[in-house]
Amino acid sequence: MNNPDRKPEWLVDDLGPKGAPFIKLTDFAPPPEESHGSLFLPDRLEKGYHVEEIRDGVYWVSVGWYDCMFVVTGRGVIVLDAPPAIGERLLSAIEDVTDEPVTHLIYSHWHADHIGAATIFGPGVKIVAHERTRDLLARFPDEYRPLPTETFATDATLDVNGVKVELSYKGQNHTEGNIFTYLPKQKVLAAIDIASPAWVTFRDCDSSENLAAWEQAHHQILEYDFDTVVSGHVSRIGNREDVEEGIEYLDDLVRFSREALETIPMEYFHAGMDGPYRAAFRAVEENYFAALVNYVTKKTLDRKTSNGLRWEERLNGADVLTKHNAFSILEKTRLERTHNGYLLRDGTPSSDKFFI
Ligand SMILES: [Zn+2]
Repeated sequence: MNNPDRKPEWLVDDLGPKGAPFIKLTDFAPPPEESHGSLFLPDRLEKGYHVEEIRDGVYWVSVGWYDCMFVVTGRGVIVLDAPPAIGERLLSAIEDVTDEPVTHLIYSHWHADHIGAATIFGPGVKIVAHERTRDLLARFPDEYRPLPTETFATDATLDVNGVKVELSYKGQNHTEGNIFTYLPKQKVLAAIDIASPAWVTFRDCDSSENLAAWEQAHHQILEYDFDTVVSGHVSRIGNREDVEEGIEYLDDLVRFSREALETIPMEYFHAGMDGPYRAAFRAVEENYFAALVNYVTKKTLDRKTSNGLRWEERLNGADVLTKHNAFSILEKTRLERTHNGYLLRDGTPSSDKFFI
């Protein structure tokens, strides 16, 4: 499979500064064990998936990188999400614990990586989603993501055979239409692509659209009375402490991003731009952002966090993902938050904390 003597034609690893760098496995520190989650569990390794009862008929299904949830009501099953990476193994997981039919499918949000196997349940299932999810799926049709049959605007409660599921939309965060799905009796909350228990968030803050709102959504999770949160990823279910830990990491990125923007002058990188280098003006932008990203990455990774450990000792992926998340937070800070003023007519800033 992975023969080092024969490099596949598709493997481009010689682009230098034009491309993305590769990292050797031996450069990685062993990740924290509590982040392994379902990854190395015997049933996941043997069957390809892990299914586990969280509480009172609520089950978590994980294939390692993707996960979802289902609820057995006594006369039918409610499923939240159908990631294509789980695919029909989700049917096997449900059959492992019940022979009740799937009657409801909830879409957390419109992203294909979470609902792209929706057709495995056949045409009879009710599909519930936010109205913006419906709009997006109507605008960008996909035969594997059928349109919802029922939508809502702000809040909705499903009562299926006496099992209550509260759905809530608090505005755009990771995407438009991304909802919170809460089972009050079982104290289980599904908030997909927001928090990442025991991990740092996937690169570029999980490609989230609005980072101010995505960050806010972490705090909205804490407003719920929950014991368990299903996040859609990272092979692990989480609890309140996991979400708080993720917020502390994010707070570091946000704080150091603002500090970097207020500290590092873009003009520094203009030096040496005369003569033949004039054409390379894009280098200023590249090096300015490299300086910003490295500043935030170093400050974040060097800090002793609230329990005395550094992030690399607490959260899986902190070592290599922090730089990607730092870039997103920096850039979205520039797009979504105040610049502390503006340039005056003579080109000087209106405040000493102003940034470009
Ligand atoms: Zn998503």
